[in-house]
Amino acid sequence: MNKKKRYINLDNMGLIIIGTGVSFFYYYFEKTILASPDLTIFITVGIILLISLFTQLLINNVNRSQEALREANETLEEKVRERTAELRESEMKYRTIFENTGAATIIVENDMIISLANSEFANISGFEKNEIEHVKSWLHFIDEKTQRKIRNGEAVPDPLEPGQIVPNFDCKFIDKDSIQKDMLCTLAAIPGSDKSVVSLADITELKEAERQISHQAFHDTLTNLPNRALFIEHLTMAVKRAKRRDDYRFAVLYLDIDRFKLVNDSLGHSVGDSLLEAFASRIQASLRDIDTLARFGGDEFVILLEDIENSEYASGVADRLQQELKRPFMVEGKEVFAPASFGVVLNTKDYNQPEDIIRDSDAAMYHAKENGKAQYKVFDKTLHKKASHLLQRETDLRKSIHRNEFENHYQPIVDLRTSSLVGFESLIRWNHPQLGLIYPDSFISIAEETGLIVPITQLIAQQACEDLCHWQKQLKDQLKLTMNINISSKHFQSPTLLDEIKEILGTTGMPPEQLKLEITETALMEDADETIRLVHRLKDFGIKLVIDDFGTGYSSLSYLQRLPIDALKVDRSFVSRIKNEPDGNRNIVEAIISLAHRLNMTVVAEGVETEEQLAILLEMNCQFGQGYLFSKPLSKPNVDKLIVNILQVSQEDPHACLSLPAMLSN
Ligand code: C2E
Ligand code: CA
Ligand code: CA
Repeated sequence: MNKKKRYINLDNMGLIIIGTGVSFFYYYFEKTILASPDLTIFITVGIILLISLFTQLLINNVNRSQEALREANETLEEKVRERTAELRESEMKYRTIFENTGAATIIVENDMIISLANSEFANISGFEKNEIEHVKSWLHFIDEKTQRKIRNGEAVPDPLEPGQIVPNFDCKFIDKDSIQKDMLCTLAAIPGSDKSVVSLADITELKEAERQISHQAFHDTLTNLPNRALFIEHLTMAVKRAKRRDDYRFAVLYLDIDRFKLVNDSLGHSVGDSLLEAFASRIQASLRDIDTLARFGGDEFVILLEDIENSEYASGVADRLQQELKRPFMVEGKEVFAPASFGVVLNTKDYNQPEDIIRDSDAAMYHAKENGKAQYKVFDKTLHKKASHLLQRETDLRKSIHRNEFENHYQPIVDLRTSSLVGFESLIRWNHPQLGLIYPDSFISIAEETGLIVPITQLIAQQACEDLCHWQKQLKDQLKLTMNINISSKHFQSPTLLDEIKEILGTTGMPPEQLKLEITETALMEDADETIRLVHRLKDFGIKLVIDDFGTGYSSLSYLQRLPIDALKVDRSFVSRIKNEPDGNRNIVEAIISLAHRLNMTVVAEGVETEEQLAILLEMNCQFGQGYLFSKPLSKPNVDKLIVNILQVSQEDPHACLSLPAMLSN
């Protein structure tokens, strides 16, 4: 303020001096040119005063303008200062954000050169910031595939759309030491510039987890081999390749370990699992890298042999593998053998679906098993015919349940001493709408494999119990008959069997002691502990159990002793060969009968066809039998007639002989 005043004073002084100077000049001018000195003085003073006055006014004005100007200037400066501070603050803010996005972030110029990189980016890249900024292109840090994508403009924000964000994409980030990391990349154009901001988030762990999940989806956890899904993928490629290239051949081998269940049941699941692992690695070691070995679950493995020269090569591999499997495996200190049956399919251009190839190799494997175990079978035209025939049968079988196309035939079981009726064995027949009557041997195995045996057995057991109740009602106390029903081994293992039987007995009102379930030795041997429990529960409920086809399986006698079994049925194959000479067969049958009696079981001889057989069986103390000698299996109307005959004869003479052949011929 003081400074300002002094300026004004100095200004005024200058002006007074100038004004005074001008006045003196005028004074001399007047004195030399004009006459009156008094007037001159007067005018001079007046001029001085006027000039001073104007000057002062002028100065005042100038000062005022200057001050206004200064003030404006100062306000402007203040504003600039404020703006600069604001800008600095905002830049700081953005820098802080840029530094701390949590992701590696860079600003990329139009020519892909990085103009700014945050510390995280420097960190993950392994370079210093000054080695990156204005030096490196950002393409330097990413894999070739992503580079291509960016060069093609696929992963570049559109400059015409400021702020546009390119959809996130995965890329491989390559650091200073050429180590690759999985990154999720986000790209956005910076509004009002031709720069973009790129931020990268490390997703290596996520990707690893993803890889593990997809590995699990395509691999078997026990053996780490490819599973069915991955195998089908490989096979699909092979089928396509074979269609494209004439010289490309492949083969599929389906492997199933023979009697693996026995290993599992006798040595435990942990030995079973270790055996599967050892089996897998032995097979794997015998294959080439390009082949695929997959585990389809359980003890089933499938091999895809790729790019093979000819079909002999596949047979050669099958031979070699069979040889390999002849050596035992050492599992948990135990020597275990694991021979396997193989089914082989050689590629033909007929196949379009990998599933068909697998189905056929599986079918061939089954045939190999049927021919005796530890063999291989190549799928050929005859098997193909058989396979499609089986498929048709399976389809028909499914339909037949809804239409109830089954009927029971009943084969009488007789007391051998009197040939009189004691009960029936229910034998199923399928009344096919086109093919007529089909015998069980042609469809029971399909029904077992497909699980259709369960509903089928329910249907026939219901029918058999209803029929027996009906006949028993007619017979009153005249005779007490039993009904034998065949239960397949697969069904016997089902946990619902007892409840199914109870329900049938409940609805038909049949007393449980009149029901006998026929099961094979193999069914009883399947899962010893579980079987013993089930057999006891059935027994407690009053149902009787019969071992069917005895002598054809491999039951241990000490095991049989532990089971409350009511009867043994001696298989037809033994009965048909007993003659009146003391040969091997006769001895076997005799041994079976005496064993059964010792175990408090009755014996039923199956397939008695001749008087000679009957005589020998009687000699051996065999109590019961069934066979063509007495009666073939009878249809229901024929049993109706038989019951009527029995009733008639016994009414006429209560002590008459009710020998079956006589009753039937009536
Ligand atoms: P299986 O239980 O051994 O039945 C006896 C088979 O021998 C019956 O054949 C019967 O007709 C036949 N047979 C009876 N006596 C003689 C004879 O003196 N000589 C000859 N050569 N054969 C005789 P089928 O009815 O063809 O039954 C075959 C097999 O099918 C049965 O053998 C049984 O294992 C099975 N099966 C029959 N019905 C059923 C059923 O309802 N359920 C189940 N799971 N299997 C059944
Ligand atoms: Ca039977
Ligand atoms: Ca039998």
